[in-house]
Amino acid sequence: DAYLAAIDAANPSLNAYVAVTHDKARAMAKTSDAKLTKGEAGALEGIPLGIKDLFATEGVHTQAASHILDGFKPRYESTVTANLWADGAVMLGKLNMDEFAMGSSNETSYYGPVVNPWRANGSNKQLVPGGSSGGSAAAVSGFLCAGATATDTGGSIRQPAAFTGTVGIKPTYGRCSRWGTVAFASSLDQAGPIARDVRDAAILLKSMASVDAKDTTSVDRPIPDYEAAIGRPIKGMKVGIPKEYRMDGMPEEIEALWQKGIAWLKEAGAEIVDISLPHTKYALPAYYIVAPAEASSNLARYDGVRYGLRVPGKDIVEMYENTRAAGFGREVKRRIMIGTYVLSAGYYDAYYLQAQKVRTLIKKDFEDAFHAGVDVILTPATPSAAFGIADQDMNADPVKMYLNDIFTVTVNMAGLPGIAVPAGLDASGLPLGLQLIGRPFDEETLFQTAHVIE
Ligand code: GLN
Repeated sequence: DAYLAAIDAANPSLNAYVAVTHDKARAMAKTSDAKLTKGEAGALEGIPLGIKDLFATEGVHTQAASHILDGFKPRYESTVTANLWADGAVMLGKLNMDEFAMGSSNETSYYGPVVNPWRANGSNKQLVPGGSSGGSAAAVSGFLCAGATATDTGGSIRQPAAFTGTVGIKPTYGRCSRWGTVAFASSLDQAGPIARDVRDAAILLKSMASVDAKDTTSVDRPIPDYEAAIGRPIKGMKVGIPKEYRMDGMPEEIEALWQKGIAWLKEAGAEIVDISLPHTKYALPAYYIVAPAEASSNLARYDGVRYGLRVPGKDIVEMYENTRAAGFGREVKRRIMIGTYVLSAGYYDAYYLQAQKVRTLIKKDFEDAFHAGVDVILTPATPSAAFGIADQDMNADPVKMYLNDIFTVTVNMAGLPGIAVPAGLDASGLPLGLQLIGRPFDEETLFQTAHVIE
């Protein structure tokens, strides 16, 4: 009741939720209450969560914040949310996001932008919460849920976490099932939690993760007790600092934050080593070929026949065209056009194939660092703090917006786990985050190290 009241009070100004499931939340809480009384509580019994609109929730609004999925209520539940409910969690509603998870500011949503609960000192200017999981980050940061689900294809968990002073982890590709999560770029998409602190993130990920026969890319490996990793000493741990992440024109406060993080880990007994990830500079351009290519294929299914919106036409082809023209927003259309272009017969070798080769090299850079004994890599999470809503610079040039992902996309390209953890405030009092990158399936080391920083 307290969370629902908080949502009803603050959501009109934050726009973090696109649907609030009052009745369902109360019914689920009642069931939890009974279980708690009987001593049968699950790991998340009664914990109220917000769910990104990308996850299919049975009988409940699921539109990936797109007009084209108008009125869509799936008859099935995503594996990730089913896992959370099986552990007793309670659903408060569906969270706003960039349309089909394409964006870094939550401004591409059909439902309008999400407002970051943070303000710069002495300013009333509205800031973005980051994207695409902007609703998840704003809701957690603004106390409108105890934790949230999110997804990360190129930074969409970690960047909004950094912009809102919350913790977000993208686990290793394959750790969580993608079944029932609306597909953006299937070889990059991963679900993960956004939470108020590292411990909450560890508890949530344990519930969300599972191998699943319905997603053959999910991996059958034991899921450790992540919470137990928190508080373990990091003495002797080798922390890699990649020199290629020291970008030209990097703001001084980001560099200073990075140095502060290095100092904290050193103080806790870690050994700091300089490393090189030589193909880093190709990650962003390669990502913006691979992700749109997969998106253009995944989004072919929205044709006005199977789901959501239908805009009639004189024949079926015109109906497809009218539906897709009216149903998709500008950014989604841009991605579909880039994707079909790089996959077309004349350009496939020059763009798509080349990007896939670059991807292999990026993965190898990380493998080399880990083989040389590095346990974890420390970088900034974002190149700046949260920027303003409708920022003219960002919105005039899509490439400027894409640069927000500069520190995060490599992790998706390599399939590795990455966590964003709050590490301080900038000069104007806005949160900044650091990122830790780990070996495949070694999320424990990320939780262990992030806890030293938080
Ligand atoms: N901002 C990136 C994009 O727009 C990443 C999105 C994501 O991780 N879902 O593609």
